[in-house]
Amino acid sequence: MSHVFHRSLTASYPVATGGDGPYLIDADGKRYLDACGGAAVSCLGHSDAAVIAAVQRQIASMAYAHSAFFTSEPMEQLADFLVARAPAGIDSVYFVSGGSEAVESALKMARQYFVERGQPQRRHVIARRQSYHGNTLGALATGGNAWRRQQFEPLLIGVTHVSPCYAWRDQSAYETDGDYVARLGQELEDHIAALGADNVMAFIAEPVVGATAGALPAVAGYFARMRDICQRHGILLILDEVMCGMGRTGSLFACEQEGVTADLICIAKGLGAGYQPIGAVMVSKDIRDTVRAGTGFFQHGHTYIGHATACAAALAVQRQIEERDLLANVRAMGGLLQERLHQRFDSHAHVGDIRGRGLFLGLELVQDRDTKQPFDPARRLHARIKAHAMQNGLMCYPMGGTIDGLHGDHILLAPPYIIAANHVDEIVDKLGAAIDACV
Ligand code: PLP
Repeated sequence: MSHVFHRSLTASYPVATGGDGPYLIDADGKRYLDACGGAAVSCLGHSDAAVIAAVQRQIASMAYAHSAFFTSEPMEQLADFLVARAPAGIDSVYFVSGGSEAVESALKMARQYFVERGQPQRRHVIARRQSYHGNTLGALATGGNAWRRQQFEPLLIGVTHVSPCYAWRDQSAYETDGDYVARLGQELEDHIAALGADNVMAFIAEPVVGATAGALPAVAGYFARMRDICQRHGILLILDEVMCGMGRTGSLFACEQEGVTADLICIAKGLGAGYQPIGAVMVSKDIRDTVRAGTGFFQHGHTYIGHATACAAALAVQRQIEERDLLANVRAMGGLLQERLHQRFDSHAHVGDIRGRGLFLGLELVQDRDTKQPFDPARRLHARIKAHAMQNGLMCYPMGGTIDGLHGDHILLAPPYIIAANHVDEIVDKLGAAIDACV
C-alpha cells in the first residue's frame, strides 16, 4: 500500500519515470503523448536539454537564499525578462511557487493597495461563475466551480459572481457580439451598483477559461468593455493567466489578443513548464508606487519566493521559447489541430463545440447537439474518456462540472509548443477513439 496521500485514494497510478520530448514514459516503458501538458504546464515537453542544464548549473552554485535576506541573479534576470515583454503599465514581478499562490497574492495585493490609499472599505471581489482560480481559500472563493467549492462554501467569503462570456451557450441568435458584450457589461455595472462601487476592490477573470470550460475565449470587445467599466469605478482588474498565459494561446500574454492590459496578471504553469514549481504576479507601476510610498512593504510572503533554481529554470524556458520562435509553432500547430478536430468531429453526434486559441483548445461534449443538453453526470463521461485515452497512450484533460446550473463535459487539449504534425494526428486519432468508446 502506498503511504502517499494521493489525489484519489481509490485509484492506482502508473509510475512516471522518464520523459522524451512530448511523451511521458512509465516504469513499464509505456509512452504517453502528453496532449494536455498535465494541466497545461509542460509547454516545452519533458526533456529539454537547455533547461535541464540551467537547473543543474544553478543548483550546483547555490541551494537556497531566503528572500527576506537576499535577492539573486536568476530572480532579477527573470523579472527583467518578463517586464520587458509585459503589457503596458506592468513594471514589477512578485514571485511565488504556483498558480493558487499567485491568485492569493494578487487578491492580497489589491486589498493592501486600497488600504494604503485610504479606502479600506474596498474589499469585495467580483468574479465569474465559470472560472477556476485555484484551491487555496481566497482563490477558491473567487472560482465558480460548484463541485470544488461545495464542502468549503462556509469558508468562502467576500466574492460574488457574474455571468461568464460563454457565447456558444449564452449569446442569442438575435444578438451581435456588440449586443452580447453590452448585455454582459450592463450586468457587471448593475452588480457593481448593487454592491456600491466604493466597496469593490477587484474584478478577476481568465482571458481564456481553462479548467472549467475547455479553452473558452471571450467574444471580441468583451475584455475591453470590462476593463473600461473597472477603470470608471476605480476597480482593479486581475487577469488570471495561470493556464492561458506564457504563450499557450500564441502570444506571450493572452490579454495581448484582447488589446487590454490589467493591474495585476497572474502567471504560473507555462512559466517554468514543469521543470520547477513557479508562479508570479505581474504588478502595475501604480500598485508598486502606492505600496512603496505607503508602508513600503507587502504584508504577505512565502518561504520559497523567487527560489533561484525555479527562476533559473523559468528564465531558460522563456529564452528557449523566444530563441526557437516556438510561438510561431504554437500558432501553426494550433491551427492544424483545430482543422483536424473540425474534420474529425464536426459531424459527430456528441461534440457540440470546438474552440480555443493557439495550442489551447477544447471540445464540449453534449447528449444532444441541437438542444445542447449535457450528458447525465452519473455517466462520469470525462473520467471514462481520460481512462480510455491513458490506456491508449494519450494524456488529455477531460473535465465535468456544473456550469450555470448545467452539468458540462469538456476536453481540454494543451500539448507542448514543440509538437509536429505527426503528434497532431496521433492526438486526434486517439482522442476520437476514446470519445467514440465512451459516449
Ligand atoms: N488559475 C487558473 C486559471 C488555473 O487553471 C489554475 C490551475 O489549474 C490555478 C489558478 C491554480 O494553479 P495551481 O494549481 O498551480 O495552484
